[in-house]
Amino acid sequence: MGAVNQLTVSLLSRMEALVVPLQDRATMWDLSATFPADDIEDLRAAGLLQAIVPAHLGGLGLGTEPDGALGALALLRLLGRANLALGRLVEAHINALRLVFRLADPALQQRVAQDAKDGKLVGLWVTDPPGDGLRISADGMLNGHKQFCSGAGHIDAAVVTALDEAGGARLVYVPIGTGLTASPLTGGLSGMRAATTGQVAFDSAAGTVFGKPDDYLAEPDFSCGAWRTSAVTLGGLEALSQQLRSQLVSRHRHGDPHQQARVGQAMIATETARLWMAEAAVQAESEPNDIPAAISYVGQARLAVERACLEVMELSQRSLGVAAFLRSNPVERICRDLSTYLRQPAADMVLTEAAIFGMENIPR
Ligand SMILES: Cc1cc2nc3c(=O)[nH]c(=O)nc-3n(C[C@H](O)[C@H](O)[C@H](O)COP(=O)(O)OP(=O)(O)OC[C@H]3O[C@@H](n4cnc5c(N)ncnc54)[C@H](O)[C@@H]3O)c2cc1C
Repeated sequence: MGAVNQLTVSLLSRMEALVVPLQDRATMWDLSATFPADDIEDLRAAGLLQAIVPAHLGGLGLGTEPDGALGALALLRLLGRANLALGRLVEAHINALRLVFRLADPALQQRVAQDAKDGKLVGLWVTDPPGDGLRISADGMLNGHKQFCSGAGHIDAAVVTALDEAGGARLVYVPIGTGLTASPLTGGLSGMRAATTGQVAFDSAAGTVFGKPDDYLAEPDFSCGAWRTSAVTLGGLEALSQQLRSQLVSRHRHGDPHQQARVGQAMIATETARLWMAEAAVQAESEPNDIPAAISYVGQARLAVERACLEVMELSQRSLGVAAFLRSNPVERICRDLSTYLRQPAADMVLTEAAIFGMENIPR
């Protein structure tokens, strides 16, 4: 796995320059639960949506090729630092494009590469509501529903899963158009409001099927892909840790030994999460020979980052007091966004499977 190349370095420096402006707008998007269209436009202009395309199709391969792993990690951390909800939208874009570039035929890959180079934002909608999930008929029409759809009503295309008549989960690339109706979740999520996570009804919508039945569940990608969510949450954790320190200093409360002890614990937790993620990104993206070992490692990394986030949220709220709950304080939004975004599938199973792997592979 090579070092980050020069084109990626300059993309990351453009992204780094955007972090503060994006942080400044994050509260506004959150308060009104608005899709961050201006932010997405800035990312487009910086070439970020296009950079996910593999190098041989004209991108930088960030998140879609082994050599793009470290660049993708840096990018997702920066996005998480800027605004977790924006990070979630781009994370989904990477996940969706990765599926296309690994599983689709050359014609669809070319088409989706062109869409991404034109600046289109793609989502990944794979969560079915109980009872009326998405189905695909023999003539290729999509009917049914998806829930927890980030970017619903705003993004340009989505990769979805749909059950075929034989019960296989098919992947479908769906340009957003006729036959799709997006609506908000009843009551909405309390955090990640700017990710505009809604529900979508499909009524004879058309798309392009790719891959084989159940390819979406193929390992190691299915489990190891979790590292990208954790990378965004790591960025949020870093922003929270920065806020904790700077707010204590600006309120002249940093000389107190109790506050110093909490800051020390927060710094250790943040660095622990960073170290886990640096290794998890490499293990997940390097086409591992030992697939169970990689899945176990990434699962542990996911849970270690989750634990670090929960710990620093508690430390920050204890240190800053009720100020951490003012809607105008970025700490309030970051904690609310992290609390929501950390709820990812099957946490218990990830832990116990990692433990079983560890017990079945005890070094002699
Ligand atoms: C901000 C945000 C944006 C999202 N955007 C999208 C999107 O764009 N597209 C999309 O498809 N999805 C999206 N999702 C949904 C996401 O993919 C997951 O479906 C969701 O986050 C699962 O979280 P959960 O905590 O409910 O998981 P669960 O797996 O239901 O876990 C909840 C608890 O139940 C336990 N548990 C799990 N299974 C069982 C079981 N069988 N028996 C007993 N206990 C069990 C778990 O260990 C855990 O303790 C989004 C979610 C969030 C938070």
